[in-house]
Amino acid sequence: MAPVLTLRELEHWSRPGTSLAVLGHPIRHSISPPMHNAALADLARSDVRFKDWEYFRFEVPPADLPATLRLLHAKRFRGVNLTVPHKVLAFDLVAVIAPAARPVGAVNTLLWTESGWHGHNTDGYGLAEALQGALGASLAGAHVILLGAGGAARSAAVECLQRGCASLSIANRTRGNLDALLEVLAPLGPDIRRRGFAPDAPPDDLPAGAIVINATSAGLHDSDPAPIDLQRLPRPASVCDMIYNPPRTRLLRQAEALGLPCANGLAMLVHQGAKALEIWSGIPAARTAPVMQEAATRALAGR
Ligand code: NDP
Repeated sequence: MAPVLTLRELEHWSRPGTSLAVLGHPIRHSISPPMHNAALADLARSDVRFKDWEYFRFEVPPADLPATLRLLHAKRFRGVNLTVPHKVLAFDLVAVIAPAARPVGAVNTLLWTESGWHGHNTDGYGLAEALQGALGASLAGAHVILLGAGGAARSAAVECLQRGCASLSIANRTRGNLDALLEVLAPLGPDIRRRGFAPDAPPDDLPAGAIVINATSAGLHDSDPAPIDLQRLPRPASVCDMIYNPPRTRLLRQAEALGLPCANGLAMLVHQGAKALEIWSGIPAARTAPVMQEAATRALAGR
C-alpha cells in the first residue's frame, strides 16, 4: 500500500513521471490508491504512455487544502481526487467547474490545465452506472426514493433529475437539511415531481416500484439503525446502499429478507474512479472499471 504523504513531502516533490493523488482527512482508509494503481499497471502492460503514471494519497487537513492544491498544480500533478471533507471546500478553489458539476456544489475530480484546475464530479455517474450494472436499473423514467440530504444525497439527486427520473422523494432525519437540499434542487428538472418526508413518517402515496437509494451514513457502524423501514414503503423495485464497508448494512439485510434486488456502494466507488481516470487519461471508463472492481474487492478483503 502507498505511504500516506503530507504537504511536507509535497514541498520536496521531484518525481519526473505523471502523478495523480487523492486528498482526504482522514485518508488512510481510502481504497482509491490500490484501485487506480491496479488500473494504471494494467494499462501500462499494453500502452507505454502509462509506464510512469502513479496514484498517491495525501493526508490534508482542511486548512491546508488551498496551499496543497496550489502546490500540486505547480508540481504538475495531472489529476486529483477529493474525498471527505474536501469535495465542497475545493469547489471554490478551482479555476473552472464543469457545467454538470455546478448544481452539485462539490467536486471530486480535478484535471490539471495550464490556466488552473478544472473541477468535475463523477459521483453521480458512478451511482448511475452502479445501478445499471448491479441492478439493471436506469434512473431515466424511474421513481426514486432517496435517503439523506448531505453531499452524497445532493450528487445523487442532481443525477436523478438530470437523467429525467419520473419522481424524486427524499427522506431525511433533519428537516432543515432536507429543505435546504430541496431548495438547491428547485431549478433542476422543474417538471419532475419531488418532495421531502421524515423517514419515520413516509407518506401513504409514495410510488410502488421505486429505486431506494441510501445516501445517509446510517449503516457505517453495525450498531446503526436502518435509515428507513422498507416495510413501511410500497414495495420497491430495488435497493442500493452507498455504504460498502460494511458490505451488508442493516438496510441491505432487510432488503434481502424481503426478496428485493439490492447492491452496496462498491460499484459506485469503482465507476466514479474509472470516470475520473477517463478524465485524466482519455481511456474510456468501461475499459478500466473491471480491473478497479477486482482491486477494490481485494483491498477490502485484506482489511
Ligand atoms: P454527509 O455528512 O454530507 O451527510 C450525512 C447524511 O446522513 C445526512 O443526511 C444525515 O442526516 C444522515 N445521517 C447521518 N447519521 C444518521 C443516522 N444515524 N440516522 C439517519 N440519518 C443519518 O455525508 P455524505 O453525504 O458525504 O456521505 C453519506 C454516505 O454516503 C456515507 O456513508 C458515505 O460513506 C457514502 N458515500 C459513498 C460513496 C460511494 O462511492 N460508494 C460516495 C460518497 C459517499 P442529517 O441531515 O439528519 O444529519
